[in-house]
Amino acid sequence: MAGGADGAAEVAEAFRELYGSPPDGVWAAPGRVNLIGEHTDYNDGFVLPLALPHTTLAAVARRSDGVLRLHSADVVGGVVELRPDALEPGGGGGWSAYPAGAVRALLDAGHAVTGADIHIASTVPTGAGLSSSAALEVVTALACNDLFGLDVPRWQLARLCRRAENLYVGVPCGIMDQTASACCTESHVLHLDTRHLAQRQVPFDLAGEGLRLLVVDTRVQHELGEGAYARRRATCEEGARALGVPALRDIAPDGLEKALAALDEPVVRRRVRHVVTENARVEQVLGLLDRGETRAIGPVLTAGHASLRDDFEVSGPELDLVVASANAAGALGSRMTGGGFGGSAIVLTEEAGADMVAMAVRDAFAAAGHRAPRVFTAVPSAGARRLA
Ligand code: ADP
Ligand code: MG
Repeated sequence: MAGGADGAAEVAEAFRELYGSPPDGVWAAPGRVNLIGEHTDYNDGFVLPLALPHTTLAAVARRSDGVLRLHSADVVGGVVELRPDALEPGGGGGWSAYPAGAVRALLDAGHAVTGADIHIASTVPTGAGLSSSAALEVVTALACNDLFGLDVPRWQLARLCRRAENLYVGVPCGIMDQTASACCTESHVLHLDTRHLAQRQVPFDLAGEGLRLLVVDTRVQHELGEGAYARRRATCEEGARALGVPALRDIAPDGLEKALAALDEPVVRRRVRHVVTENARVEQVLGLLDRGETRAIGPVLTAGHASLRDDFEVSGPELDLVVASANAAGALGSRMTGGGFGGSAIVLTEEAGADMVAMAVRDAFAAAGHRAPRVFTAVPSAGARRLA
């Protein structure tokens, strides 16, 4: 096994100590932030995520007896042993449901995965809206794909991982997070049409333009399992039904006023308005990036935040404070990212003003009596890969 500066050697060594023999390989899958296109992926819409340098690593060895042994350096507790073929839909299995669900989804799709020993270690903050869950699923699926010679394309691995989270974890998420973790590339954002699964890698060279994208993890935990996320999803489906379209993606921006006039429920109207305008904002940002007008995406990000706050109602005081304080300190634009209800926000700023902006956000949090946020730079990084 080759070593490396990427943590692979450490994870391989921890595997060996745990299971008594070396792994067959080490894989990595990143967390992500979404530049724009929030709560659009379960409406067949558009998203624009980028992969973070933060990754979930998995050291993995094949087994042939159908058993999965799972261990994570990031949770308290020992090795979990289970049979993925016996996994029940509905979730409730704790953290092991993510990797076990990924293996089970491969089995459900007819792939011969005969078991594995897995040791996980991650630098993706969990529950921070940065998609540690997808990173965990994708790293497991990619390792199995390689070790068992399955030749499943990455977009398909992402679909299976989404199925794992929907069915075996019980979170009704869309396809964005898994696709971002599996398919993003360095120095790019990924434009994904979540209906047709068409992808385009869009150059996003922030450093080259003297810009910086900050991630502010508010360290407020969100509960996505049931509750608000599922209700938002159901309301969107209700809106699509009422409007006689397969999904809200099918309402074009210039058909929005007519659509809103046809809806009786003010809440449904607001949710529909968010999704339709958010899809338009993705296309707007895409156009600006294609024309090299990166600075001009700032106000679009901030408009997206206002829509998530006022129309989709998934923000919160901490996320709103990031946006208000960062923009007041001279940021080009900012927004919550991920599902919401806490989690993280992104801030686009001039490189030269980045430290001031970060300090302004920290000061605002201290003044409001919030826990100190975690602030780091989002460098558009590679998607899932084999390290060793
Ligand atoms: P997010 O995906 O935004 O980080 P989620 O609530 O969707 O938040 O997923 C977080 C959950 O994923 C954790 O509570 C845990 O069950 C599981 N998880 C993620 N990363 C790890 C890890 N490194 N080790 C064990 N479990 C993990
Ligand atoms: Mg998640």
